[in-house]
Amino acid sequence: MIPFNVPPYCGREDAYVLEAIHSHKISGDGAFTKKCHAWLQEHTGAAKALLTTSCTHALDMSALLCRLRPGDEVILPSYTFSSTANAFVLAGATPVFVDVRPDTMNIDETLIEDAITDRTRVVCVMHYAGVACEMDAVMDIARRHGLLVVEDAAQAVMASYKGRALGTIGDYGCYSFHESKNYSMGEGGALLLRQDDPRAEIIREKGTNRARFLRGQVDKYTWEDLGSSYLPSELNAAYLYAQLEMADEINAARLHCWALYRQMLAPLAEQGRIDWQTVPEGCAHNAHMFYIKAKDLAERTALTAWLKERGVQAPFHYVPLHSAAAGLRFGRFHGQDRYTTRESERLLRLPMFYGLTDSQVEQAAEAVTEFYKRRRGL
Ligand SMILES: *Cc1c(COP(=O)(O)O)cnc(C)c1O
Repeated sequence: MIPFNVPPYCGREDAYVLEAIHSHKISGDGAFTKKCHAWLQEHTGAAKALLTTSCTHALDMSALLCRLRPGDEVILPSYTFSSTANAFVLAGATPVFVDVRPDTMNIDETLIEDAITDRTRVVCVMHYAGVACEMDAVMDIARRHGLLVVEDAAQAVMASYKGRALGTIGDYGCYSFHESKNYSMGEGGALLLRQDDPRAEIIREKGTNRARFLRGQVDKYTWEDLGSSYLPSELNAAYLYAQLEMADEINAARLHCWALYRQMLAPLAEQGRIDWQTVPEGCAHNAHMFYIKAKDLAERTALTAWLKERGVQAPFHYVPLHSAAAGLRFGRFHGQDRYTTRESERLLRLPMFYGLTDSQVEQAAEAVTEFYKRRRGL
């Protein structure tokens, strides 16, 4: 069986985690967390990077940093993970969903402006599959309307837009280091700030100025603002650091598999039997995902079953948030759902992970090709 995902593992994780244990300092913000912060700041150009317990928590922190009030509105795509919307609902705001572009499954930047009301405070984009949203257009709209921009860059570590790391273009960027992502600390993430804001480390440390205290800048620490416990243990940071050190290698290996899928499935795409993702000009993606689109839901269901019989795990992805129970309760869809539902029903992800072999890619791609050859007669 070819699994859809195998969590990344490089080899040095064991030694680094042991090193953290032997330092007798496994709570947050120790030596490995500092190394991860330095790596993230250096490789992304963010003014500040803070490791968090998850991307979900980085999104929650972003929503707190946006100082939202009940009734405020946040524009975001419906084709995303629950955490993208939840963060803003927890902060008291209303998610306003707009349609995606069928070529990238990212928010359609041309529909954002029409969804803006006098309650709109934030645009939250999500870079699906590590392919960038049209950030020049998004930032231009935000600037003209005085809105903040949050990037859910959970899938976008090591990906960029016109040379700028995803997660550093908007006001706040959120990375995931969950084991389903390109780099893993089991559960974890990071918040990136385009401009340093002292509130971020206060929110992360239970609303206290403990970070300043640890740097010797104040002689005791006290409760200063809203916050929670958003910093991960050193054990998780040590595990992650082993992978960040190997980031170029992991990225190159994934891109190699992605290109091989592309080559193997090109005939099907050229014949119009499948669609696949577009990588627009200026976007350097990170091969977080390789997906294809079948004709419709029925064909996708048949293809998934066919692949399963041939030992290839190929899951679909998001059920659009606006049609989910919580989405109906907390949010609303602005405009027409032309693509979100229809395209989400066609989409199927093929195995993609660090360590995937060429022959596994070939086996998966051949199984897809075989399905369409047989189907021609139907
Ligand atoms: C994985 C993911 C998240 C959640 O990440 P966690 O680190 O598990 O909290 C949020 N948004 C998107 C788009 C994701 O893919």
